[in-house]
Amino acid sequence: MSLENLTNNYREILTNLGEQPQRDGLKGTPERAAKAMQFLCRGYTQSLEEIVNGALFDSDNDEMVIVKDIELYSLCEHHMLPFIGKAHVAYIPTGKVIGLSKVARIVDMFARRLQIQENLTRQIAEAIQQVTNAAGVAVVIEAKHMCMMMRGVEKQNSSMHSSVMLGAFRESVNTRQEFLQLISRSN
Ligand SMILES: [Zn+2]
Repeated sequence: MSLENLTNNYREILTNLGEQPQRDGLKGTPERAAKAMQFLCRGYTQSLEEIVNGALFDSDNDEMVIVKDIELYSLCEHHMLPFIGKAHVAYIPTGKVIGLSKVARIVDMFARRLQIQENLTRQIAEAIQQVTNAAGVAVVIEAKHMCMMMRGVEKQNSSMHSSVMLGAFRESVNTRQEFLQLISRSN
C-alpha cells in the first residue's frame, strides 16, 4: 500500500466530489484520509501466525471458553462504509487454549479488511478452529451497517446478526443453546 498513491487518489476523489482540495480546511485531508484508510485496512498486512505468535497454552480444560462483547469495527466491501458492532466467540478446547487477547486480535485482523459480515464471521470461526484445534467453535456477530443507516433504506435501528457454528456447536443443540444463553445475558 503506497501512501503517496492513496493520497493522490483521495485528492482526486475530493475534486470529483466538487471540492477544492487546495482550500485551507482540506489541505491535509487527502493524506489524513489515506492514513486512516490504511489503518482501517491493516488486516491485509497481518497474518494469523504473527497475531497468535505462539500464545497457545496446554490445558486440561474441556469446558466452553467464551469471549463476549469484542468491539468490532469493519468496512463493508460493497460501499466501503463502516459496520460497527460486537463479536462473541466461544470454543471447546482439546488440550490447548489461546490467550484471550489473541481472540480479540484475530477478530480485529479479519475486521480490518473490506468485508461482508457473513464472511467475517466464518473467517474468525475457521481461524480459531485452525489455531486451537478445538472440538467446536461458535462465533456470533451483531453489527449496524452505515450503508443501511446513512444511505439507501436509512433504517437507523436495524442490526444484522450472523453466526457460524462448527463442530460440537453444530452437532449438539445443548452446547449451542448454552452458548446462546451465555451471550444473551447482559453481563
Ligand atoms: Zn454496504
